[in-house]
Amino acid sequence: MANLHSAIELFPTPDHDHHSCAASILEAAERICAERRVRLTEKRRQVLEIIAKSHTAAGAYEILEKMAGPKGRPAPVIVYRALDFLMAQGFVHRLASLNAFIACANPQSDHGSQFLICRDCRAVMEFSNPTLGKAIHEGAQAASFSVDATMVEVSGLCAACARAQHE
Ligand SMILES: [Zn+2]
Ligand SMILES: [Zn+2]
Ligand SMILES: [Zn+2]
Repeated sequence: MANLHSAIELFPTPDHDHHSCAASILEAAERICAERRVRLTEKRRQVLEIIAKSHTAAGAYEILEKMAGPKGRPAPVIVYRALDFLMAQGFVHRLASLNAFIACANPQSDHGSQFLICRDCRAVMEFSNPTLGKAIHEGAQAASFSVDATMVEVSGLCAACARAQHE
């Protein structure tokens, strides 16, 4: 699991080599599916590829549009089923605040995630801070609350957008 420090170094700057990020997400998904003996079907792979193509969260409608071929758009249910599979396998996360999806930075591990979400360019960075996760579990435990998920969505401005605003 990436620690806070190394995760922040991975914040998607506009000039990074994104080709390798997207490729490594797809490679990891293929490997994990083979290990778990589940199928990364053509449609599932296609949806993951569209989401992994950028560090901005993709909405279901946007995914549908990008899947359109000569025969038109696929039925929404196809996209939703693929998204359910990808979320169940931990390859993508749904961001409630945007109602959109982002590829997971660390699909191998079971993790509670925190997301930094830029309100301007919609770039999203995921990190997983065990201390924060522990604090959430402790607070929940004190309230006899059983936790399903410990996702935290933080909105703000990324460094590139903050810089652009000052120019
Ligand atoms: Zn990238
Ligand atoms: Zn994740
Ligand atoms: Zn930004």
